[in-house]
Amino acid sequence: MKKIQLSYSEREELCALLFPEVRESCEEIEARFPPRDLKEGAVVSRMAPSPTGFVHLGNLVQGLTSERMCHQSEGVLFLRVEDTDAKREVPGAIETLIQTLAHYGISFDEGATLEGDFGHYGPYRQRARKDLYHVFAKKLLLEGLAYPCFCTEEELSDIHNRQEQNKENFGYYGKWAVWRDAPMAEIRKALDEGFPWVLRIRSTGSIENKIAFTDLIKGKMELTENDIDHVLLKSDGIPTYHFAHAVDDHLMHTTHVVRGDEWLPSLPFHLQLFRALGFRVPKYLHIGPLMKMDGTSKRKLSKRRDPELALTYYKAEGFPIRSVYEYILTILNSNFEDWRRANPNLPASEFPFSYKKMNPAGSLFEYMKLVDVSKNVISKMTAREVYEEICAWTEEFDPELFALLKADPEKALAILSIGRGGQKPRKDLGTWSEVRSYLSFFYRPLFVSEEAMPSHVSREDTAAVLNAYRALYCEGDDADTWFQKITDLAVSLGFAAKPKEYKASPESFKGHVGDVSMVLRIAVTGKSASPDLYSVMKILGKEEVLSRLDQALSKL
Ligand code: GLU
Repeated sequence: MKKIQLSYSEREELCALLFPEVRESCEEIEARFPPRDLKEGAVVSRMAPSPTGFVHLGNLVQGLTSERMCHQSEGVLFLRVEDTDAKREVPGAIETLIQTLAHYGISFDEGATLEGDFGHYGPYRQRARKDLYHVFAKKLLLEGLAYPCFCTEEELSDIHNRQEQNKENFGYYGKWAVWRDAPMAEIRKALDEGFPWVLRIRSTGSIENKIAFTDLIKGKMELTENDIDHVLLKSDGIPTYHFAHAVDDHLMHTTHVVRGDEWLPSLPFHLQLFRALGFRVPKYLHIGPLMKMDGTSKRKLSKRRDPELALTYYKAEGFPIRSVYEYILTILNSNFEDWRRANPNLPASEFPFSYKKMNPAGSLFEYMKLVDVSKNVISKMTAREVYEEICAWTEEFDPELFALLKADPEKALAILSIGRGGQKPRKDLGTWSEVRSYLSFFYRPLFVSEEAMPSHVSREDTAAVLNAYRALYCEGDDADTWFQKITDLAVSLGFAAKPKEYKASPESFKGHVGDVSMVLRIAVTGKSASPDLYSVMKILGKEEVLSRLDQALSKL
């Protein structure tokens, strides 16, 4: 590797030319970001999403992993908005980002909020930290570890083409890095002529060398050193992700960097940067991708092909936040399900989350499993909680149902109380979008008779059941009397009182009590499957029950 050409005084001159506005020293900056006063072993981590307008399940997986690690260790979790790529930023994306994360209940101790920054280590939006990056960029320049490069797009693509022809590795490195050893006179001339410049690292790495590294999720690995003179500051003075990552995570005292494993190829460069800057290297956890089954093989979830990657999808489908949260724990920690079975009523936040249980290769996303987890979560909620959640959801996604729920909260609560609260609560609902079909029959304007009467009960018998029951139904009956009346009715019409009796001698009966109940169920609810019919009738009230029996009779 050739020695740097510029003398110390030339580098001093260059610093003054490139960073005339930098007055502070690195030491002064460091003093503004003192070490955090936390107990031994406390994890400091962050979510550092880019405001591209798309918040995805991967963000949540990463956020939840960091969140658990921080909060289980009495550490600090902060939100840093990585807005260095202005071209990719969508208007309103920062607000969407902050709102979406808040919706999913990731609670930050500091960072960017809708009202501005909160905490002592800000600003928490990278574009607002430009001055800080320049102080450290200037230090690298002075130490001969960085240099300005004036290459145009055309020159860079020319280098690329020549590398292709020569079958050499691509990139700006070694002999291809034309500004790496440029003499001061040439740099001065380019600056005088007003050429835009970027700042590049003067890499001392070689692809011949390997670095041993331990990632907390991936385990021991061997990385190839970085030999590319990557860009640190772009021509508008804004840092690249890499440079901002090193400076920010150092100044913010991040102990653990948790991120997607698409960043693994950049890791050698990051390690090099931390060393060049004299920073302690944080611990890294690179999370494997989310995958799904496609036929018999697994593939990564893709933004283009899989709507379920976007977090907005879960909101629109009506998955409660707690369900998504528990599902993510289920796929991240293989022992979560056992823990949940052993502790059915503890909040998920009490689960001892461990990054050691994460699969280095990534997790498999299964929609049906999510629905199952969600059914479990919803079955444990109180009727009031469900009511509140469905009001919030329907207000946005089903205004007609929202109006009915709001008009009579007592009725809605009675409906939602059916089968809830006991040892074995019903697991009817997996998402709030299923609520309409689950309870619409309770509301006259939404009631439709969806299913035909059972075909194995004759038209005459169906009519007889409906007519007789009309006369028998009494709103004040308790559950036992109610059922006894149906049994008596069944027997009087020639049906067996018990399915067992019928099975023992089918030729002696028209059917059994279940068939009679089914006729009544379909008449009253329009469906062959419904919550407990006694409770249903109670909530509907006598007038409505009789009117539905009449309606069913008239349709025969
Ligand atoms: N802004 C990066 C991203 O959105 C953050 C990666 C990291 O957590 O360091 O992928």
